[in-house]
Amino acid sequence: MREARRLERVPPYFFAEMDRTKARLLRNGVDLIDLGVGDPDTPTPEPIVRELCRQAPQPANHRYPAYEGSVEFRQAICQYYASRFGVSLDPEREAIGLIGSKEGLSHLVWAFVDPGDCVLVPDPAYPVYAVQTLLSGGSPYHMPLLSENDFLPDFDAIPPDVLSRARLMFLNYPNNPTSAVCSLDFFRKAVEFAREHGMLICHDAAYIEMSYDGFAAPSILQVDGAREVAVETYSWSKPFNMTGWRIAAMLGSGRAISALRVIKTNTDSGQFTAVQMAAALALRDEPGAFIMAMNSMYSKRRDALIKGLERAGLDPVMPHGTFYVWCPVPVGEDSSSFSALLLKEAHVIVAPGSAYGARGEGYVRFALTVDEARLEEAASRIGGVLASGMRERARGETRERPRPY
Ligand code: PMP
Repeated sequence: MREARRLERVPPYFFAEMDRTKARLLRNGVDLIDLGVGDPDTPTPEPIVRELCRQAPQPANHRYPAYEGSVEFRQAICQYYASRFGVSLDPEREAIGLIGSKEGLSHLVWAFVDPGDCVLVPDPAYPVYAVQTLLSGGSPYHMPLLSENDFLPDFDAIPPDVLSRARLMFLNYPNNPTSAVCSLDFFRKAVEFAREHGMLICHDAAYIEMSYDGFAAPSILQVDGAREVAVETYSWSKPFNMTGWRIAAMLGSGRAISALRVIKTNTDSGQFTAVQMAAALALRDEPGAFIMAMNSMYSKRRDALIKGLERAGLDPVMPHGTFYVWCPVPVGEDSSSFSALLLKEAHVIVAPGSAYGARGEGYVRFALTVDEARLEEAASRIGGVLASGMRERARGETRERPRPY
């Protein structure tokens, strides 16, 4: 037996490793506060669950689903885009159902990237974009997302030899892990850039419904002509607490969607139709009310965590979107030493920024996936760890490795 060589190109999936560490500590009875994985802690809204229970027993739903998603599902997402973003899409040609956006993002790479091609990938980013590029034999080109550029890529800095081989560019706003948001004007520039260099943009809109302080995140498809060069993935996972349901859609360029359909029809057979029907109902049944309540919950959590981290002496980036807080590590630490310190001494799990790429080094990411009281508790434990580090430094004690402040 011999595994394919392409597996050697894949780094370990960070969150799978983190789950193993977490399980070990929990077995030892440690009171962990898990702010690591971006998985909502509150349940799917009841009407959506009820619709699944109504649809699940229906024999028509027990047969193979339609490959591209049911007509009702595709109509529901297209109607939603019309009312939410003013974008009109053809459900036949410009929409396809996905088994979660991770599936669609991955398979899109296989539909567009040949060995030797380049894919423009933000750095830091959700790891799937770069790893699928490597698996398909392509080369990721990492576009730095820097704090001085508001965590937006600088298209002018991409070298011409990369541009001539670039087939696909991933974007993701509101952004995981930096929590940055972008304007419609940024999307205009991106569309113009993609058109000029003959590449497809895939905008991963996993967090498009999560924004705060009166800001509404735009869809790239709102840009005139975007549907000729761009697709966008919409996921039910975060807006409706449905990460376990595995349901999403890709919308936009009919040509890209046909190409994806070739890969998908030869790989999977679509999501359970009852799940699609429940997802369609989520978009019809006052989605705005649920999303507003969710955003209000997360913004209170955000404020509690930001206040606590600032009190602890850290300098977190104030997020206007996503349910993450991106925070520079203290002087003397790096992403993994600081996340290991928090795990060992504060029993708080955070994601090291370096798990998202080289430009994530120097940061950690907190997910707002526990209630305000637990977030305050996490911040106060962190404050305790940092203060004891300071006291030890003041006493001039030698330590195994540099401590904050
Ligand atoms: N894109 C980003 C940026 C994400 O953070 C995630 C999940 N955390 C996904 C896509 C995957 O979402 P889904 O559950 O729809 O596969």
